[in-house]
Amino acid sequence: MKVSRMYAPTLRESPAEAEIASHRLMLRAGLMRKLVSGVYSYLPLGYRVIRKIEQIVREEMDRQGGLEILMSALQPAELWRASGRWEDYGPEMFKLDDRNGREFCLGPTHEEIFTALIRDEVRSYRQLPLLLYQIQTKYRDEIRPRFGLIRAREFIMKDLYSFDRDEAGLDVSYKKMYEAYCRVFTRCGLSYMVVEADVGAMGGTDSHEFVVVTEVGEADLVFCKKCGYAANVERAECIEPPVTDLEDLKPLEEVSTPDMRTIEEVSGFLEVPPSKLVKTLIYIADGRPIAALIRGDRELNEAKLKRFVGAGELAMADEETIGKVTGAPVGFAGPVGISVDQVIADLEIKGMSNFVVGGNAEDLHLRNVNIERDFKVDAYADLRNAVDGDPCPRCKSPLTAAKGTEVGHIFKLGTKYSEALGAKYLDENGEDHLIVMGSYGIGITRTVAAIIESNHDEDGIIWPMSVAPYHAVVVPINVTEQAQNDLANEVYERLNAAGVEAVLDDRDERPGVKFKDADLIGYPIRIVVGPKTLKSNQVEVKLRKSKETQMVDVESVAEYVTEIIRKELEMLMPK
Ligand SMILES: [Zn+2]
Repeated sequence: MKVSRMYAPTLRESPAEAEIASHRLMLRAGLMRKLVSGVYSYLPLGYRVIRKIEQIVREEMDRQGGLEILMSALQPAELWRASGRWEDYGPEMFKLDDRNGREFCLGPTHEEIFTALIRDEVRSYRQLPLLLYQIQTKYRDEIRPRFGLIRAREFIMKDLYSFDRDEAGLDVSYKKMYEAYCRVFTRCGLSYMVVEADVGAMGGTDSHEFVVVTEVGEADLVFCKKCGYAANVERAECIEPPVTDLEDLKPLEEVSTPDMRTIEEVSGFLEVPPSKLVKTLIYIADGRPIAALIRGDRELNEAKLKRFVGAGELAMADEETIGKVTGAPVGFAGPVGISVDQVIADLEIKGMSNFVVGGNAEDLHLRNVNIERDFKVDAYADLRNAVDGDPCPRCKSPLTAAKGTEVGHIFKLGTKYSEALGAKYLDENGEDHLIVMGSYGIGITRTVAAIIESNHDEDGIIWPMSVAPYHAVVVPINVTEQAQNDLANEVYERLNAAGVEAVLDDRDERPGVKFKDADLIGYPIRIVVGPKTLKSNQVEVKLRKSKETQMVDVESVAEYVTEIIRKELEMLMPK
Protein backbone atom coordinates (compact mmCIF):
# COMPACT_ATOMS: atom_id res chain seq x y z
CA MET A 1 0.00 0.00 0.00
CA LYS A 2 1.26 3.45 -0.82
CA VAL A 3 0.67 6.08 1.80
CA SER A 4 -0.28 8.63 -0.88
CA ARG A 5 -3.27 6.39 -1.67
CA MET A 6 -3.99 5.50 1.97
CA TYR A 7 -6.84 6.93 4.01
CA ALA A 8 -5.31 7.36 7.45
CA PRO A 9 -5.82 10.97 8.52
CA THR A 10 -3.42 11.50 11.43
CA LEU A 11 -3.78 14.31 13.97
CA ARG A 12 -0.95 16.22 15.63
CA GLU A 13 -3.04 17.27 18.61
CA SER A 14 -4.90 15.05 21.05
CA PRO A 15 -8.68 15.35 20.75
CA ALA A 16 -10.04 16.92 23.93
CA GLU A 17 -12.68 14.23 24.50
CA ALA A 18 -10.13 11.42 24.62
CA GLU A 19 -9.13 10.74 28.22
CA ILE A 20 -7.05 7.60 27.83
CA ALA A 21 -4.16 6.51 25.63
CA SER A 22 -6.00 4.01 23.44
CA HIS A 23 -8.80 6.44 22.67
CA ARG A 24 -6.37 9.27 21.98
CA LEU A 25 -4.05 7.21 19.83
CA MET A 26 -6.78 5.56 17.78
CA LEU A 27 -8.09 8.99 16.84
CA ARG A 28 -4.65 10.54 16.32
CA ALA A 29 -3.29 7.63 14.25
CA GLY A 30 -6.36 7.78 12.02
CA LEU A 31 -7.59 4.31 12.98
CA MET A 32 -11.14 5.44 13.70
CA ARG A 33 -13.46 8.41 13.89
CA LYS A 34 -16.41 9.15 16.13
CA LEU A 35 -19.87 9.10 14.57
CA VAL A 36 -21.79 9.95 17.74
CA SER A 37 -20.95 9.40 21.40
CA GLY A 38 -19.90 5.76 21.88
CA VAL A 39 -20.24 4.87 18.18
CA TYR A 40 -17.21 4.77 15.87
CA SER A 41 -16.31 4.30 12.23
CA TYR A 42 -13.24 2.13 11.72
CA LEU A 43 -10.88 3.46 9.05
CA PRO A 44 -8.62 1.21 6.91
CA LEU A 45 -5.74 0.81 9.39
CA GLY A 46 -8.06 0.33 12.37
CA TYR A 47 -10.19 -2.18 10.51
CA ARG A 48 -7.13 -4.18 9.49
CA VAL A 49 -6.24 -4.55 13.18
CA ILE A 50 -9.81 -5.63 13.97
CA ARG A 51 -9.73 -8.19 11.16
CA LYS A 52 -6.44 -9.61 12.43
CA ILE A 53 -7.80 -10.05 15.94
CA GLU A 54 -10.94 -11.63 14.50
CA GLN A 55 -8.77 -14.05 12.54
CA ILE A 56 -6.84 -15.09 15.65
CA VAL A 57 -10.13 -15.60 17.47
CA ARG A 58 -11.53 -17.65 14.57
CA GLU A 59 -8.50 -19.89 14.46
CA GLU A 60 -8.66 -20.58 18.18
CA MET A 61 -12.43 -21.17 18.22
CA ASP A 62 -12.16 -23.53 15.24
CA ARG A 63 -9.26 -25.32 16.89
CA GLN A 64 -11.57 -26.28 19.76
CA GLY A 65 -14.28 -27.45 17.37
CA GLY A 66 -16.24 -24.19 17.22
CA LEU A 67 -18.48 -23.57 14.21
CA GLU A 68 -18.97 -20.05 12.96
CA ILE A 69 -22.42 -18.72 12.12
CA LEU A 70 -23.83 -15.20 11.86
CA MET A 71 -27.01 -13.98 13.49
CA SER A 72 -28.87 -10.71 13.32
CA ALA A 73 -28.39 -7.80 15.67
CA LEU A 74 -32.15 -7.31 15.44
CA GLN A 75 -33.88 -9.58 17.94
CA PRO A 76 -37.59 -10.09 18.68
CA ALA A 77 -38.79 -9.18 22.17
CA GLU A 78 -40.65 -12.50 22.66
CA LEU A 79 -37.45 -14.47 23.19
CA TRP A 80 -36.21 -11.97 25.77
CA ARG A 81 -39.60 -12.02 27.49
CA ALA A 82 -39.38 -15.81 27.70
CA SER A 83 -36.09 -15.61 29.60
CA GLY A 84 -37.32 -12.73 31.77
CA ARG A 85 -34.54 -10.46 30.56
CA TRP A 86 -36.69 -8.03 28.52
CA GLU A 87 -37.41 -6.20 31.79
CA ASP A 88 -34.36 -7.32 33.78
CA TYR A 89 -31.80 -6.06 31.32
CA GLY A 90 -32.71 -2.49 32.08
CA PRO A 91 -32.22 0.78 30.20
CA GLU A 92 -28.96 -0.37 28.62
CA MET A 93 -30.96 -2.31 26.04
CA PHE A 94 -31.75 -0.51 22.79
CA LYS A 95 -35.44 -1.22 22.15
CA LEU A 96 -37.43 -0.42 19.03
CA ASP A 97 -40.75 -1.18 17.31
CA ASP A 98 -41.33 -2.14 13.70
CA ARG A 99 -44.08 -0.55 11.57
CA ASN A 100 -46.61 -3.05 12.90
CA GLY A 101 -45.80 -2.25 16.49
CA ARG A 102 -43.88 -5.48 17.06
CA GLU A 103 -41.11 -5.00 19.62
CA PHE A 104 -37.45 -5.66 18.97
CA CYS A 105 -34.09 -4.91 20.51
CA LEU A 106 -30.61 -4.46 19.14
CA GLY A 107 -28.90 -7.39 20.80
CA PRO A 108 -26.49 -6.67 23.65
CA THR A 109 -25.80 -10.45 23.70
CA HIS A 110 -27.32 -13.55 22.07
CA GLU A 111 -28.12 -16.26 24.66
CA GLU A 112 -31.85 -16.26 23.87
CA ILE A 113 -31.38 -16.25 20.10
CA PHE A 114 -28.86 -19.10 20.02
CA THR A 115 -30.98 -21.13 22.43
CA ALA A 116 -34.05 -20.67 20.23
CA LEU A 117 -32.07 -21.76 17.16
CA ILE A 118 -30.94 -24.94 18.90
CA ARG A 119 -34.37 -25.62 20.37
CA ASP A 120 -35.86 -25.72 16.90
CA GLU A 121 -33.16 -27.89 15.34
CA VAL A 122 -31.49 -30.17 17.87
CA ARG A 123 -33.44 -33.31 18.81
CA SER A 124 -30.99 -36.02 19.77
CA TYR A 125 -28.02 -36.51 22.09
CA ARG A 126 -26.12 -37.49 18.93
CA GLN A 127 -26.10 -33.82 17.87
CA LEU A 128 -24.36 -32.75 21.09
CA PRO A 129 -22.00 -31.29 22.16
CA LEU A 130 -22.17 -28.25 19.93
CA LEU A 131 -20.03 -25.11 19.99
CA LEU A 132 -21.50 -22.31 17.88
CA TYR A 133 -20.05 -18.86 17.61
CA GLN A 134 -20.28 -15.62 15.70
CA ILE A 135 -18.32 -12.40 15.33
CA GLN A 136 -20.92 -9.70 15.23
CA THR A 137 -21.91 -6.18 16.23
CA LYS A 138 -23.59 -5.67 19.60
CA TYR A 139 -25.35 -2.72 21.18
CA ARG A 140 -25.50 -1.37 24.70
CA ASP A 141 -27.00 1.99 25.52
CA GLU A 142 -24.34 3.01 28.03
CA ILE A 143 -25.40 5.84 30.29
CA ARG A 144 -22.03 7.47 29.83
CA PRO A 145 -19.98 6.12 26.94
CA ARG A 146 -16.33 6.75 27.75
CA PHE A 147 -12.78 5.79 26.97
CA GLY A 148 -13.35 5.15 23.26
CA LEU A 149 -13.66 1.46 22.52
CA ILE A 150 -13.54 0.50 26.20
CA ARG A 151 -17.08 1.61 26.93
CA ALA A 152 -18.80 2.05 23.58
CA ARG A 153 -22.47 1.76 22.67
CA GLU A 154 -21.77 -0.28 19.55
CA PHE A 155 -19.00 -2.86 19.60
CA ILE A 156 -17.81 -6.00 17.85
CA MET A 157 -17.90 -9.16 19.87
CA LYS A 158 -17.18 -12.82 19.42
CA ASP A 159 -19.78 -14.82 21.30
CA LEU A 160 -19.74 -18.59 21.49
CA TYR A 161 -22.40 -20.76 23.10
CA SER A 162 -21.82 -24.35 24.15
CA PHE A 163 -24.60 -26.93 24.22
CA ASP A 164 -24.02 -30.11 26.17
CA ARG A 165 -25.92 -33.12 27.52
CA ASP A 166 -24.95 -32.57 31.13
CA GLU A 167 -22.74 -30.72 33.62
CA ALA A 168 -19.79 -32.98 32.86
CA GLY A 169 -20.08 -32.06 29.20
CA LEU A 170 -20.30 -28.38 30.11
CA ASP A 171 -17.10 -28.74 32.17
CA VAL A 172 -15.31 -30.02 29.07
CA SER A 173 -16.63 -27.20 26.85
CA TYR A 174 -15.79 -24.63 29.51
CA LYS A 175 -12.24 -25.92 29.77
CA LYS A 176 -11.84 -25.81 26.00
CA MET A 177 -12.94 -22.19 25.90
CA TYR A 178 -10.74 -21.30 28.87
CA GLU A 179 -7.78 -22.66 26.95
CA ALA A 180 -8.87 -20.97 23.72
CA TYR A 181 -9.13 -17.62 25.49
CA CYS A 182 -5.66 -17.95 27.00
CA ARG A 183 -4.30 -18.66 23.52
CA VAL A 184 -6.18 -15.76 21.89
CA PHE A 185 -4.92 -13.15 24.34
CA THR A 186 -1.39 -14.51 24.32
CA ARG A 187 -1.33 -14.33 20.53
CA CYS A 188 -2.61 -10.74 20.72
CA GLY A 189 0.46 -9.87 22.81
CA LEU A 190 -1.56 -9.15 25.95
CA SER A 191 -0.55 -10.01 29.46
CA TYR A 192 -3.80 -10.84 31.17
CA MET A 193 -5.16 -12.21 34.40
CA VAL A 194 -7.95 -14.70 34.76
CA VAL A 195 -10.16 -13.63 37.63
CA GLU A 196 -13.12 -15.19 39.35
CA ALA A 197 -16.13 -13.13 38.44
CA ASP A 198 -19.67 -12.63 39.57
CA VAL A 199 -22.29 -14.25 37.35
CA GLY A 200 -24.56 -11.20 37.71
CA ALA A 201 -27.54 -10.93 35.38
CA MET A 202 -26.39 -13.88 33.24
CA GLY A 203 -27.40 -16.48 35.80
CA GLY A 204 -25.44 -19.71 36.16
CA THR A 205 -22.71 -20.98 38.41
CA ASP A 206 -19.12 -20.55 37.33
CA SER A 207 -17.60 -17.52 35.66
CA HIS A 208 -14.16 -16.17 34.82
CA GLU A 209 -13.08 -12.85 33.41
CA PHE A 210 -9.97 -12.33 31.31
CA VAL A 211 -8.65 -8.96 32.38
CA VAL A 212 -5.77 -6.85 31.14
CA VAL A 213 -4.31 -4.62 33.84
CA THR A 214 -4.45 -1.06 32.54
CA GLU A 215 -4.08 2.37 34.10
CA VAL A 216 -7.71 3.17 33.52
CA GLY A 217 -10.20 0.38 33.31
CA GLU A 218 -13.73 -0.78 33.76
CA ALA A 219 -12.94 -3.52 36.23
CA ASP A 220 -11.68 -3.10 39.78
CA LEU A 221 -9.68 -6.10 40.82
CA VAL A 222 -7.39 -7.41 43.47
CA PHE A 223 -4.65 -9.94 43.01
CA CYS A 224 -2.06 -11.72 45.10
CA LYS A 225 1.52 -11.44 43.97
CA LYS A 226 2.45 -14.45 46.04
CA CYS A 227 -0.03 -17.19 45.12
CA GLY A 228 -1.61 -15.80 41.96
CA TYR A 229 -5.14 -15.46 43.36
CA ALA A 230 -7.06 -12.83 41.40
CA ALA A 231 -10.65 -11.67 41.57
CA ASN A 232 -12.96 -8.87 40.77
CA VAL A 233 -13.43 -6.72 43.90
CA GLU A 234 -17.11 -7.64 43.87
CA ARG A 235 -16.26 -11.31 43.90
CA ALA A 236 -13.07 -11.35 46.02
CA GLU A 237 -13.53 -13.01 49.38
CA CYS A 238 -12.77 -10.90 52.44
CA ILE A 239 -11.69 -13.00 55.36
CA GLU A 240 -12.49 -12.24 58.98
CA PRO A 241 -9.76 -10.05 60.45
CA PRO A 242 -8.21 -11.16 63.73
CA VAL A 243 -9.59 -9.32 66.76
CA THR A 244 -6.85 -7.12 68.19
CA ASP A 245 -6.93 -5.05 71.35
CA LEU A 246 -10.64 -4.76 72.13
CA GLU A 247 -11.18 -1.57 74.10
CA ASP A 248 -12.96 -1.37 77.44
CA LEU A 249 -16.62 -0.64 76.80
CA LYS A 250 -17.43 3.02 77.32
CA PRO A 251 -20.89 4.27 78.27
CA LEU A 252 -23.28 4.80 75.35
CA GLU A 253 -23.64 8.49 74.49
CA GLU A 254 -26.13 10.44 72.37
CA VAL A 255 -24.61 13.23 70.30
CA SER A 256 -26.42 15.91 68.39
CA THR A 257 -25.31 15.97 64.74
CA PRO A 258 -27.39 18.68 63.10
CA ASP A 259 -27.77 17.95 59.37
CA MET A 260 -24.81 15.56 59.38
CA ARG A 261 -25.85 12.65 57.19
CA THR A 262 -22.80 11.37 55.38
CA ILE A 263 -19.86 9.47 56.81
CA GLU A 264 -17.54 12.38 55.91
CA GLU A 265 -19.73 14.92 57.68
CA VAL A 266 -20.17 12.86 60.84
CA SER A 267 -16.55 11.77 60.92
CA GLY A 268 -15.33 15.36 60.51
CA PHE A 269 -17.79 16.74 63.04
CA LEU A 270 -17.11 14.15 65.75
CA GLU A 271 -13.41 14.00 64.94
CA VAL A 272 -13.35 10.21 64.65
CA PRO A 273 -11.92 8.36 61.63
CA PRO A 274 -14.48 6.80 59.22
CA SER A 275 -13.16 3.39 60.27
CA LYS A 276 -14.68 3.99 63.75
CA LEU A 277 -18.10 4.59 62.21
CA VAL A 278 -20.58 1.89 61.27
CA LYS A 279 -22.92 2.50 58.35
CA THR A 280 -26.43 1.05 58.56
CA LEU A 281 -27.90 0.38 55.14
CA ILE A 282 -31.55 -0.58 54.84
CA TYR A 283 -32.50 -3.01 52.07
CA ILE A 284 -35.65 -4.75 50.96
CA ALA A 285 -34.96 -8.43 50.39
CA ASP A 286 -37.90 -10.16 48.72
CA GLY A 287 -40.27 -7.70 50.33
CA ARG A 288 -38.86 -7.70 53.86
CA PRO A 289 -36.70 -4.95 55.36
CA ILE A 290 -33.20 -5.89 56.50
CA ALA A 291 -30.27 -3.85 57.81
CA ALA A 292 -26.69 -4.35 56.64
CA LEU A 293 -23.89 -2.99 58.82
CA ILE A 294 -20.54 -2.10 57.39
CA ARG A 295 -17.51 -0.09 58.48
CA GLY A 296 -17.73 3.59 57.56
CA ASP A 297 -14.77 3.48 55.17
CA ARG A 298 -15.94 0.35 53.32
CA GLU A 299 -18.21 -0.24 50.37
CA LEU A 300 -21.12 -2.61 50.67
CA ASN A 301 -21.26 -5.27 48.00
CA GLU A 302 -24.88 -5.88 47.05
CA ALA A 303 -24.13 -9.11 45.20
CA LYS A 304 -22.61 -10.60 48.37
CA LEU A 305 -25.52 -9.42 50.50
CA LYS A 306 -28.00 -10.83 48.01
CA ARG A 307 -26.22 -14.18 47.92
CA PHE A 308 -26.00 -14.34 51.69
CA VAL A 309 -29.68 -13.67 52.37
CA GLY A 310 -30.65 -15.87 49.42
CA ALA A 311 -33.00 -13.22 48.10
CA GLY A 312 -34.42 -13.31 44.60
CA GLU A 313 -34.70 -9.55 44.66
CA LEU A 314 -32.72 -7.05 46.66
CA ALA A 315 -33.00 -3.28 46.50
CA MET A 316 -32.09 -0.26 48.61
CA ALA A 317 -35.09 0.72 50.73
CA ASP A 318 -37.03 3.81 49.70
CA GLU A 319 -37.37 6.88 51.92
CA GLU A 320 -40.74 5.78 53.27
CA THR A 321 -39.50 2.36 54.39
CA ILE A 322 -36.43 3.91 55.98
CA GLY A 323 -38.70 6.31 57.87
CA LYS A 324 -40.84 3.40 59.03
CA VAL A 325 -38.05 1.12 60.29
CA THR A 326 -35.84 3.82 61.83
CA GLY A 327 -38.39 6.47 62.78
CA ALA A 328 -36.02 9.04 61.30
CA PRO A 329 -35.33 10.75 57.99
CA VAL A 330 -32.69 9.28 55.67
CA GLY A 331 -29.14 9.69 56.97
CA PHE A 332 -29.61 8.76 60.62
CA ALA A 333 -30.23 5.00 60.52
CA GLY A 334 -28.58 2.89 63.19
CA PRO A 335 -28.86 -0.63 64.58
CA VAL A 336 -29.95 0.39 68.11
CA GLY A 337 -33.73 0.01 68.37
CA ILE A 338 -34.24 -0.50 64.63
CA SER A 339 -37.25 -2.57 63.56
CA VAL A 340 -36.14 -4.78 60.69
CA ASP A 341 -36.44 -8.53 60.01
CA GLN A 342 -32.73 -9.15 60.22
CA VAL A 343 -29.54 -7.29 61.13
CA ILE A 344 -26.57 -8.58 59.16
CA ALA A 345 -23.11 -7.25 59.95
CA ASP A 346 -19.94 -7.46 57.92
CA LEU A 347 -17.22 -9.71 59.39
CA GLU A 348 -15.11 -6.68 60.26
CA ILE A 349 -17.80 -5.34 62.61
CA LYS A 350 -17.32 -8.33 64.89
CA GLY A 351 -14.04 -7.00 66.23
CA MET A 352 -15.15 -3.38 66.68
CA SER A 353 -15.95 -1.63 69.93
CA ASN A 354 -17.07 1.85 71.01
CA PHE A 355 -18.12 2.84 67.49
CA VAL A 356 -20.41 5.53 66.12
CA VAL A 357 -23.79 4.80 64.50
CA GLY A 358 -26.89 6.72 63.46
CA GLY A 359 -29.34 7.39 66.30
CA ASN A 360 -32.63 6.60 64.52
CA ALA A 361 -33.79 10.17 65.17
CA GLU A 362 -33.29 13.36 63.21
CA ASP A 363 -29.89 15.03 63.83
CA LEU A 364 -28.80 12.28 66.24
CA HIS A 365 -25.89 9.85 66.34
CA LEU A 366 -24.75 7.46 69.06
CA ARG A 367 -21.18 7.18 70.30
CA ASN A 368 -19.49 4.23 72.06
CA VAL A 369 -21.93 1.72 70.69
CA ASN A 370 -21.17 -1.96 71.32
CA ILE A 371 -22.62 -5.19 69.99
CA GLU A 372 -24.54 -7.37 72.47
CA ARG A 373 -24.79 -4.62 75.06
CA ASP A 374 -26.61 -2.14 72.81
CA PHE A 375 -28.03 -4.24 69.98
CA LYS A 376 -28.04 -7.73 68.54
CA VAL A 377 -26.55 -8.93 65.27
CA ASP A 378 -28.50 -11.78 63.68
CA ALA A 379 -25.71 -12.88 61.37
CA TYR A 380 -22.17 -12.00 60.31
CA ALA A 381 -21.19 -12.27 56.68
CA ASP A 382 -18.64 -11.06 54.14
CA LEU A 383 -20.50 -8.04 52.81
CA ARG A 384 -17.87 -5.64 51.53
CA ASN A 385 -15.73 -5.04 48.46
CA ALA A 386 -12.12 -6.06 48.83
CA VAL A 387 -9.52 -3.27 48.98
CA ASP A 388 -5.78 -2.88 48.48
CA GLY A 389 -3.86 -4.51 51.32
CA ASP A 390 -6.61 -6.93 52.41
CA PRO A 391 -5.24 -10.36 53.26
CA CYS A 392 -5.37 -12.84 50.36
CA PRO A 393 -8.11 -15.39 51.05
CA ARG A 394 -5.79 -18.19 49.94
CA CYS A 395 -2.41 -17.34 51.45
CA LYS A 396 -3.04 -14.22 53.60
CA SER A 397 -0.40 -12.09 51.85
CA PRO A 398 -1.57 -8.55 51.19
CA LEU A 399 -3.63 -8.18 48.01
CA THR A 400 -2.83 -5.54 45.40
CA ALA A 401 -5.65 -3.52 43.90
CA ALA A 402 -5.55 -2.74 40.19
CA LYS A 403 -7.68 -1.39 37.40
CA GLY A 404 -8.33 -3.64 34.49
CA THR A 405 -10.09 -3.90 31.20
CA GLU A 406 -12.20 -6.99 30.75
CA VAL A 407 -11.53 -8.43 27.31
CA GLY A 408 -13.14 -11.83 27.74
CA HIS A 409 -15.78 -13.39 29.95
CA ILE A 410 -16.85 -17.01 30.18
CA PHE A 411 -19.95 -18.33 32.00
CA LYS A 412 -21.40 -21.67 32.89
CA LEU A 413 -25.07 -20.97 32.30
CA GLY A 414 -26.45 -24.40 33.17
CA THR A 415 -30.09 -24.75 32.11
CA LYS A 416 -31.32 -21.20 32.75
CA TYR A 417 -31.95 -20.45 29.08
CA SER A 418 -32.78 -23.95 27.84
CA GLU A 419 -35.43 -24.16 30.54
CA ALA A 420 -36.91 -20.74 29.80
CA LEU A 421 -37.02 -21.43 26.06
CA GLY A 422 -37.65 -25.19 26.17
CA ALA A 423 -34.44 -26.43 24.53
CA LYS A 424 -34.36 -30.21 25.08
CA TYR A 425 -32.81 -33.34 23.59
CA LEU A 426 -33.68 -37.02 23.72
CA ASP A 427 -31.16 -39.39 25.28
CA GLU A 428 -30.39 -43.02 24.31
CA ASN A 429 -33.54 -44.20 26.09
CA GLY A 430 -35.82 -41.69 24.47
CA GLU A 431 -36.09 -39.54 27.60
CA ASP A 432 -35.91 -35.81 27.22
CA HIS A 433 -33.48 -33.53 29.11
CA LEU A 434 -32.69 -29.85 29.15
CA ILE A 435 -29.60 -28.87 27.21
CA VAL A 436 -26.80 -27.58 29.47
CA MET A 437 -25.25 -24.35 28.22
CA GLY A 438 -22.26 -22.07 28.51
CA SER A 439 -21.63 -18.62 27.07
CA TYR A 440 -18.26 -17.16 26.13
CA GLY A 441 -17.54 -13.62 24.93
CA ILE A 442 -14.54 -11.71 23.63
CA GLY A 443 -14.82 -7.98 23.07
CA ILE A 444 -12.98 -7.65 19.77
CA THR A 445 -12.99 -3.85 19.61
CA ARG A 446 -12.25 -3.61 23.31
CA THR A 447 -9.28 -5.92 22.77
CA VAL A 448 -7.89 -3.38 20.27
CA ALA A 449 -8.09 -0.73 23.00
CA ALA A 450 -6.52 -3.03 25.60
CA ILE A 451 -3.62 -3.85 23.26
CA ILE A 452 -2.91 -0.14 22.76
CA GLU A 453 -3.28 0.61 26.47
CA SER A 454 -0.51 -1.87 27.21
CA ASN A 455 1.61 -1.25 24.09
CA HIS A 456 2.39 2.41 23.53
CA ASP A 457 4.86 5.16 24.38
CA GLU A 458 4.84 8.95 24.13
CA ASP A 459 5.28 8.77 20.34
CA GLY A 460 2.42 6.41 19.58
CA ILE A 461 1.30 2.82 19.31
CA ILE A 462 3.70 -0.15 19.44
CA TRP A 463 1.76 -2.99 17.80
CA PRO A 464 2.58 -6.58 18.58
CA MET A 465 3.48 -8.16 15.22
CA SER A 466 0.40 -10.41 15.22
CA VAL A 467 -2.09 -7.56 15.11
CA ALA A 468 -0.15 -4.72 13.46
CA PRO A 469 -2.08 -3.15 10.57
CA TYR A 470 1.07 -3.61 8.44
CA HIS A 471 4.38 -5.20 9.41
CA ALA A 472 6.67 -2.60 7.90
CA VAL A 473 6.82 0.91 6.48
CA VAL A 474 9.38 1.96 3.87
CA VAL A 475 10.31 5.65 4.16
CA PRO A 476 12.33 7.39 1.42
CA ILE A 477 13.84 10.56 2.91
CA ASN A 478 13.27 12.57 -0.26
CA VAL A 479 10.90 11.30 -2.92
CA THR A 480 11.90 14.02 -5.38
CA GLU A 481 15.32 12.37 -5.68
CA GLN A 482 14.77 9.81 -8.40
CA ALA A 483 17.44 7.35 -7.25
CA GLN A 484 16.10 7.32 -3.70
CA ASN A 485 12.60 6.93 -4.95
CA ASP A 486 13.61 4.02 -7.18
CA LEU A 487 15.46 2.26 -4.38
CA ALA A 488 12.53 2.71 -1.97
CA ASN A 489 10.23 1.25 -4.61
CA GLU A 490 12.58 -1.66 -5.10
CA VAL A 491 12.68 -2.39 -1.37
CA TYR A 492 8.89 -2.13 -1.19
CA GLU A 493 8.50 -4.56 -4.11
CA ARG A 494 10.98 -7.00 -2.58
CA LEU A 495 9.01 -6.96 0.71
CA ASN A 496 5.70 -7.47 -1.10
CA ALA A 497 7.12 -10.38 -3.07
CA ALA A 498 8.29 -11.99 0.18
CA GLY A 499 4.78 -11.72 1.65
CA VAL A 500 5.60 -8.90 4.06
CA GLU A 501 2.64 -6.57 4.66
CA ALA A 502 4.37 -3.34 3.73
CA VAL A 503 3.51 0.32 3.28
CA LEU A 504 5.53 2.75 1.17
CA ASP A 505 5.46 6.33 2.42
CA ASP A 506 5.75 7.96 -1.01
CA ARG A 507 4.42 11.34 0.12
CA ASP A 508 6.40 14.46 -0.68
CA GLU A 509 6.71 15.38 3.01
CA ARG A 510 9.59 16.27 5.28
CA PRO A 511 11.21 13.14 6.77
CA GLY A 512 10.30 14.36 10.26
CA VAL A 513 6.61 14.26 9.39
CA LYS A 514 6.87 10.75 7.96
CA PHE A 515 8.85 9.44 10.93
CA LYS A 516 6.33 10.94 13.35
CA ASP A 517 3.45 9.30 11.50
CA ALA A 518 5.28 5.96 11.38
CA ASP A 519 5.85 6.05 15.13
CA LEU A 520 2.30 7.22 15.82
CA ILE A 521 0.71 4.49 13.71
CA GLY A 522 3.18 2.06 15.22
CA TYR A 523 4.42 -0.11 12.35
CA PRO A 524 6.72 -2.66 14.05
CA ILE A 525 9.47 -2.22 11.42
CA ARG A 526 10.62 0.98 9.73
CA ILE A 527 12.94 0.90 6.72
CA VAL A 528 14.61 4.18 5.74
CA VAL A 529 16.05 4.90 2.31
CA GLY A 530 18.22 8.04 2.26
CA PRO A 531 21.22 9.57 0.48
CA LYS A 532 23.68 7.69 2.71
CA THR A 533 22.02 4.33 2.26
CA LEU A 534 21.97 4.94 -1.47
CA LYS A 535 25.76 5.02 -1.67
CA SER A 536 26.25 1.81 0.26
CA ASN A 537 23.23 0.09 -1.29
CA GLN A 538 22.03 -0.52 2.24
CA VAL A 539 18.91 0.53 4.09
CA GLU A 540 18.34 1.29 7.75
CA VAL A 541 15.96 -1.11 9.49
CA LYS A 542 14.60 0.16 12.81
CA LEU A 543 12.38 -1.70 15.24
CA ARG A 544 9.58 0.34 16.78
CA LYS A 545 9.60 -1.49 20.10
CA SER A 546 13.29 -1.79 20.97
CA LYS A 547 14.37 1.19 18.83
CA GLU A 548 17.29 -0.97 17.60
CA THR A 549 18.63 -0.09 14.18
CA GLN A 550 20.59 -2.17 11.69
CA MET A 551 22.01 -1.45 8.24
CA VAL A 552 20.98 -4.18 5.82
CA ASP A 553 21.91 -4.84 2.17
CA VAL A 554 19.07 -4.15 -0.21
CA GLU A 555 19.42 -7.65 -1.65
CA SER A 556 18.80 -9.28 1.73
CA VAL A 557 16.31 -6.84 3.24
CA ALA A 558 13.27 -9.01 2.49
CA GLU A 559 14.87 -12.04 4.07
CA TYR A 560 16.00 -10.00 7.10
CA VAL A 561 12.55 -8.51 7.68
CA THR A 562 10.78 -11.83 7.12
CA GLU A 563 12.97 -13.37 9.79
CA ILE A 564 12.12 -10.63 12.32
CA ILE A 565 8.42 -11.12 11.64
CA ARG A 566 8.70 -14.90 11.92
CA LYS A 567 10.54 -14.67 15.24
CA GLU A 568 8.11 -12.19 16.73
CA LEU A 569 5.08 -14.21 15.69
CA GLU A 570 6.68 -17.32 17.11
CA MET A 571 7.29 -15.56 20.42
CA LEU A 572 3.60 -14.67 20.61
CA MET A 573 2.55 -18.24 19.92
CA PRO A 574 1.43 -20.14 23.05
CA LYS A 575 3.65 -23.06 23.93
ZN1 LIG B 1 -2.31 -15.34 47.95
